[in-house]
Amino acid sequence: MPTIDALSKRLNDYLDPIQIQQVRRSFFYAEEAHDGQKRKSGEPYVTHPFAAANVLAELRMDHQSLMAAMLHDVIEDTDISYEGIESQFGKTVADIVDGVSKLTHLEFETKAEAQASNFQKMVLAMAEDIRVILVKLADRLHNMRTLGAMPPHKQRRIARETLDIYAPIAARLGMRDVQVELEDLAFQAHFPMRSKHIRRAVVQARGQRKDIISTIQDTIEKRLEQEGLSGKVTGREKHLYSIYSKMKAQRKSFSEIMDVFAFRIVTDSVDDCYRALGAVHNLYKPVHGRFKDYIAIPKANGYQSLHTDLFGARDITIEVQIRTHEMDAVASQGIAEHSHYKNDDGTDASESALGSYKRARKWVKGLLEMHQSAGNSMEFIDSVKTDLFPDEVYVFTPLGKILELPSGATAVDFAYAVHTDVGNSCVSCRINRRLAPLSQPLENGQTVEVITTPSAQPNMAWLNFVVTGKARTAIRHYLKNQQRHESVELGQRLLNQFLANYGATLSDIDQFKLRELLNEAELGDLDDLLEDIGLGNRMAYVVARRLRPETPQTGSEEGSSRNHKPMSIKGTEGMVLQYAKCCLPIPGDKIIGHISTGRGLVIHQTDCRNIGYLRDDPEKCIYLEWSENLDEEFSVNLKVEVESHRGIIAELATTASSAGADVVAIDMSDHEGQFANVQMEVTVTDRIHLARVLKKLRNLKSVNRITRE
Ligand code: MN
Repeated sequence: MPTIDALSKRLNDYLDPIQIQQVRRSFFYAEEAHDGQKRKSGEPYVTHPFAAANVLAELRMDHQSLMAAMLHDVIEDTDISYEGIESQFGKTVADIVDGVSKLTHLEFETKAEAQASNFQKMVLAMAEDIRVILVKLADRLHNMRTLGAMPPHKQRRIARETLDIYAPIAARLGMRDVQVELEDLAFQAHFPMRSKHIRRAVVQARGQRKDIISTIQDTIEKRLEQEGLSGKVTGREKHLYSIYSKMKAQRKSFSEIMDVFAFRIVTDSVDDCYRALGAVHNLYKPVHGRFKDYIAIPKANGYQSLHTDLFGARDITIEVQIRTHEMDAVASQGIAEHSHYKNDDGTDASESALGSYKRARKWVKGLLEMHQSAGNSMEFIDSVKTDLFPDEVYVFTPLGKILELPSGATAVDFAYAVHTDVGNSCVSCRINRRLAPLSQPLENGQTVEVITTPSAQPNMAWLNFVVTGKARTAIRHYLKNQQRHESVELGQRLLNQFLANYGATLSDIDQFKLRELLNEAELGDLDDLLEDIGLGNRMAYVVARRLRPETPQTGSEEGSSRNHKPMSIKGTEGMVLQYAKCCLPIPGDKIIGHISTGRGLVIHQTDCRNIGYLRDDPEKCIYLEWSENLDEEFSVNLKVEVESHRGIIAELATTASSAGADVVAIDMSDHEGQFANVQMEVTVTDRIHLARVLKKLRNLKSVNRITRE
């Protein structure tokens, strides 16, 4: 383990003295914060964050990443808070440390593959600053290097998580060196026997392979020399975990995999890459269909190289990768790579890349730019991250399954993503076990639980905040069906009401006349007609007269309208039934329904001024009554004349709600000296409830008069 002085010396290569001083200070701060704490291995705790910082120093990361690495366990494991770190080292460093701590809390549970890939994305999305990931990877790498000190069951769990989550993230960010080391360490910890067998087999094979490798290497080197090409040739050995994965995924035997000999040629320029390719194709016959030009079209993580497979002697396959020094550095360090190579002609090597993958180019270019504008170090990487990882949030179901939703998605979107029925019957939700509004946008890593009741139904207002197409479509669909359902039902009741004038019901109507009417109106079936009536597009009175049976039914006579009961209103008709704003009827009031075109049935108080001359027109109005057991709340307007004083509004509101009435609106309109009129809109269940509310209000000393409007 190097000392802090050794690290400082190394940082001299690429950081300025002030930055190095800050890194040193963060080390001493961490040392003090973790004072007395020990690792499982018995070493002082600070050796761990220090090692993580060293990993990042090897990648030549900026000073803020190094500081964050030094401090990455401080919030988690000591008394020091986010604010403590912020005041000492600034917001950026504190944010990175905070991000790393949050990742530590994520529990990866299920092993399903799809789940793992979502989890990777969630980890990435949770890191506002990509340096959070780099620090986390360094942390994980050191923990893997020292995993032996852990009890076996923990070793297995951590190894599994490393294989499923962190190694793939390193791969995604193009950090191949970190990926390979994580994979081999985790492979060894998770499958000790398999790892041992493969290792032993590799060592054995190495003896036989040595000659073949050096022969091929010599041959290629000589040929490059003849052609006057730059280029260093090295033999590559596959790492243990990749041999194992290949055996598993491609069902190949160990010897089949070992019959492949892999080489890398690293050149000085892109030109030399293509010329070296020509040289080796000249030397060995290429395998058809195996050539790949990742220089022209880099991989999404920025990887660039030429790949080709060749037929060697004695049935062996030779795999060759050809790339420049710069590409080689990117291939091993990926997003953390920031050295600056120039082509022979002085242009940026990355500029000459012909790749169409904007993302990868932007990344490499950004890295170069960052290098040039030293100081304002890593901000650009954030923009790269946005490119790599689009706008999504990842949240958990209560059972630990991960759902991917577009950013801005709410619990309603979540509910519909789970199942349409869950969406249609959701009433509220818990986010991280706390009740939260359905409209609240979800954040990465939250656990969302939807609360449903069978009688619930989607709300039109949800359309204002849902973001997923699935939720939107399902809500619209439901409401449309619902409205039709309600209209048909209301239409049926209205028609029955008027048919009763002829002593008939819907089941008695003349089928021939019905068909005639449907044809005339271009309607499909009886439900369509009823819907039309319910929506107020067609007069129930007129339809009833037309469809009435020729002969009056037994037991009733034409004109017996006085005998039958008024139609009753349940209050739940919702979409096709409205309460008139002018008189706001409540249960207990005498009511009349006005059938208004396109608006359905509008309910007024019988003596409402607006209903006036229409009242006795049986084509326009219908007498109604309230059904029993109404479970709704109804609005009423109150006019209160008060002696004004400070706090009168609050006094009125509290009094009303103490009587069980919700205050919807309250407004003091006109003042006249000390007297004032207050307009209140409150909700009550019926007239009896209203009387109770009025009584309470009248008992107030400052209330002179109170009337329902
Ligand atoms: Mn740690």
